[in-house]
Amino acid sequence: MIGHEKVLSADFVNSLQQVVGTPHVLSTDLAGYGTDWTGRFIGSPALVVRPASTSEVSKILLLCSQHNVAVVPQGGNTGLVGGTLAHEGHIIVSSRRLTSIGAVDTASQQISVGAGVLIEQVQEAAKSHGLRYAVDFGARGSATVGGTIATNAGGINVLRFGSTRHQIVGIEAVLPNGDVIEHMAGLLKDNTGYDIASLLCGSEGTLGIVTAARLRLVASHNLRTTVLLGCDSAQEVVEVVGGIRQQFDCLDAAEMFFLDGANLVASAFDVSIPFVAPAYLLLEFSSDIDLSSDIEQFLTRSQFRGHCAVADNESSRTRLWRLREEHTAAISTIGVPHKFDVTVAVSDLPLFINAVRRRVSDANAEWSVYIFGHAADGNMHINVLGPTANDVSVDEIVLQVVAEFKGSISAEHGVGSAKKKWLSLSRSQTEIDMMKAIKSAIDPQGLMNPNTLFV
Ligand SMILES: Cc1cc2nc3c(=O)[nH]c(=O)nc-3n(C[C@H](O)[C@H](O)[C@H](O)COP(=O)(O)OP(=O)(O)OC[C@H]3O[C@@H](n4cnc5c(N)ncnc54)[C@H](O)[C@@H]3O)c2cc1C
Repeated sequence: MIGHEKVLSADFVNSLQQVVGTPHVLSTDLAGYGTDWTGRFIGSPALVVRPASTSEVSKILLLCSQHNVAVVPQGGNTGLVGGTLAHEGHIIVSSRRLTSIGAVDTASQQISVGAGVLIEQVQEAAKSHGLRYAVDFGARGSATVGGTIATNAGGINVLRFGSTRHQIVGIEAVLPNGDVIEHMAGLLKDNTGYDIASLLCGSEGTLGIVTAARLRLVASHNLRTTVLLGCDSAQEVVEVVGGIRQQFDCLDAAEMFFLDGANLVASAFDVSIPFVAPAYLLLEFSSDIDLSSDIEQFLTRSQFRGHCAVADNESSRTRLWRLREEHTAAISTIGVPHKFDVTVAVSDLPLFINAVRRRVSDANAEWSVYIFGHAADGNMHINVLGPTANDVSVDEIVLQVVAEFKGSISAEHGVGSAKKKWLSLSRSQTEIDMMKAIKSAIDPQGLMNPNTLFV
């Protein structure tokens, strides 16, 4: 990639101020933008610019192109792979003022929103019309629509509704030269060449800045049934999930975690664990009929003999979910983890989990490993505490195990700067060359998020 300016000229900074207004060009107290959510990746952005419209984003990117300044797009900064890491001379373009929320279109079950709208806000807008936005995960109150598109975020409902990519029916984005793409009609059928929304989805800010999107909403079922099962092992979790999926097509989420993680959450956040078990499976169903007795009958008929807790109201549901969703935050209370977000075949999960624990312990018995994730997707979040932030020996160990199981080194969080060194474990050289060719065609100066995705 071509080099960019390390020192910003006064002329460039003045021009930015004219575009967005001086208060929205920040040059001091940038730690909240420069350090990632985990605290592992600490950058040094030259400036943070906060546009309030697509036209302002367009003018900013044109100026960056004219002055050869590198740009790091940023939404809620909840990404976990150092994708918003800005180095010397880079400016961060924050989407947090792109907050328009359009009317819910109940006929098409769609909504148009700005890139800086939070996932929780989309969920609330949908809910007020009896609908639902299907993307959901622990960072819903801080992650933005633009960030989730750029990372193709997954979350707890991928099993039933797919990842972010499956929710996008229209996109608006600004290309590195300032040109604007506006394709927001939300047509479900539109086979007119390359799918640009899909290309931008998962591009991690390397091709342009997403400024708005039209999103698919789904029907909201009246009854949610949430069940926590105590299992003997990861093997039993996988078997129960398989049986449940055969029987129930209304399963929204199937989350796995272990006793060590549950204990950590319990002590960090004063959450109670209903019963002790080596492994836990948290299931959530949504439907228009009460499924409690069907689930009970299924468990009685199956070989499952462990403990079971059913949430029968919203507060007990929240309590069960906190045990799973507070894992990320609880782990961060005891150190700065090396995080891995990987997929393997669901049937390989038990062997894979054992192999990761064994190989990390062989490398250093003092390091601790916390594993949890989305059981039905084969997607585990592995957190290793102990190695220093810059010691990537553990990354090498874990990602090699993933490759041995023919898995993906990034299931949901993206590649960012953290995983780019290992991209070839999951993608062939031909695929990487094709991605680089697309990048060069759209961003010939190499200005968009230059630390991310490619070495
Ligand atoms: C507690 C917790 C739980 C999480 N759980 C999940 C989970 O279950 N599933 C999951 O997938 N992720 C999860 N994440 C990771 C994270 O929330 C997602 O990656 C989310 O999509 C990031 O959104 P953001 O707005 O914070 O983006 P940022 O962190 O600000 O940015 C992420 C990437 O997107 C790019 N980007 C941001 N905005 C734009 C834009 N408008 N245009 C172009 N590029 C842009 C950035 O340059 C960067 O590369 C979790 C994070 C936390 C802290």
